[in-house]
Amino acid sequence: MALAAGPEAQIGKLVIRNIGLMLSGALEAPILDADTLVAENGRITGFGRAKDCDTGDARVVIDAQGTALAPGLIDSHVHPVFGDWTPRQSQLGWIESCLHGGVTTMISAGEVHLPGRPRDIIGVKALAITAERAFTNFRPLGVKVRAGAPVLERGMVESDFAELAASGVKLLGEVGLGTVKAGYEAKEMVAFARKYGIQSTIHTGGPSVPGSGYIDADTVLEADADIIGHINGGHTALPLRQIRCLCEGCARGIEIVHNGNELAALSALRFANELGQLGRVILGTDSPAGSGVQPLGILRMVAFLSSFGEIPAETAFCFATGNTARLRALDCGLIEVGRAADFVLMDRAQHSAGKDLLESVRLGDLPGVGMTVIDGIVRTTRSRNTPPAERIPVIVA
Ligand SMILES: [Zn+2]
Repeated sequence: MALAAGPEAQIGKLVIRNIGLMLSGALEAPILDADTLVAENGRITGFGRAKDCDTGDARVVIDAQGTALAPGLIDSHVHPVFGDWTPRQSQLGWIESCLHGGVTTMISAGEVHLPGRPRDIIGVKALAITAERAFTNFRPLGVKVRAGAPVLERGMVESDFAELAASGVKLLGEVGLGTVKAGYEAKEMVAFARKYGIQSTIHTGGPSVPGSGYIDADTVLEADADIIGHINGGHTALPLRQIRCLCEGCARGIEIVHNGNELAALSALRFANELGQLGRVILGTDSPAGSGVQPLGILRMVAFLSSFGEIPAETAFCFATGNTARLRALDCGLIEVGRAADFVLMDRAQHSAGKDLLESVRLGDLPGVGMTVIDGIVRTTRSRNTPPAERIPVIVA
C-alpha cells in the first residue's frame, strides 16, 4: 500500500508489527510488554505480543523495524490563528512542521495573534466559534488542532459561557491575555466556564509580548483554572518560591513550555516530583511566539526534562502524551483499546551516544521520527525535521 494512494486508501484495519519498544503514555506503567498493535477505523483495537493479536485481513501493515512506538505527542499550549499560517512570524506550514516533530494534537490557548482580534464580547464569541469550526474542518496533514479558545474580557456574564458551550466551544484562552486580570474576576468566569464544561488555562508570569499581562501566584491560585499555563513563564517566570507555592497550593495541571524559562521549568518539575505529583506535569510550546515556532519543541522538552531533570525518558514521554490526555479529557495520548490510533514511531538518532532510544533521550539527544499515524492513517514517513533515525518503519502491505 503506497502512501501516495492517499488517506482514503488506508481506511480499515491497520497492523503495526515488529515494534521494538511500546510506550504507553501512562505514568504508572510507561513501557508495555508488546510488539504488535492493531487499529481499526482509527481506533486501537488490540496490542500485545504478535501471537496474541488478531492481525488478519489488514488493509495496511507496517513493519516497525524494531523502532519505538508512542502515542502521538500533544502540545498543550499553542496559539493558532487560521489555516496553517501564523501572523506572529509570518510563517506558513508550521503545524505540518510540528507533525514532523511527532505532534499529532495541539490545544489552543487562545487565537490571540489574529491581527485586529475583536475585544468586544460578541466579537470574542464569534471568533471562538469560528476558530472551533475552522480547525474542526481543516486539519493540516491530519493534525488535530483543538481551537476556539476565547480570551476573557470584562463584562462577560454567565449566559455568554452557556452560549459558547452550546455552540461547541470547549476551551478558554489563557486567562490574563484580555482585560480580565484580577483574581476575583477570573475566578467567577473560570467557574462559569467549568459549570458549562469549558476547560480553562491561565497565563502565569510576566507579559509574553507587548500587550500581554503579568499574573502572579496569588492570582493563579484565586482564579483556580484547570491548567497553570506555562508555569515556567512565557518567557518571564515568577520567582521560584511562587512556582513552589503553585505546585503545593493546588492540584491543577502544571504546564511547562518550550518558550519559557528553563531554570523555572526544571524547578517546577522538581517541585512536582518532590510532591509525588508528576501526573500533573504536561508540556506545551506556547508557539508561535517571539522565539518563533519550534517544530521539535515537544521532543526538545522531553529530552531536556529527562536529561537535566534526571527523569527516565519513558516518564518524560508521559508528560507529552497520557498526562495531557487525562488532564484535558482527550481520547488520544494513551495506548488503550478504544483510544484514537495516533502514534509517533521513533528510533535513536544516528550516531547518538545512547545505545537505544530511551538512553539517547536521557542523554539529551532528540529521537529521530520515522513515521506518524493519526486516526489509524499514516501521515508522514521519515521526518524532514528530526535528526535521521537509525531505523525507520516501512509500509509492507
Ligand atoms: Zn501566556
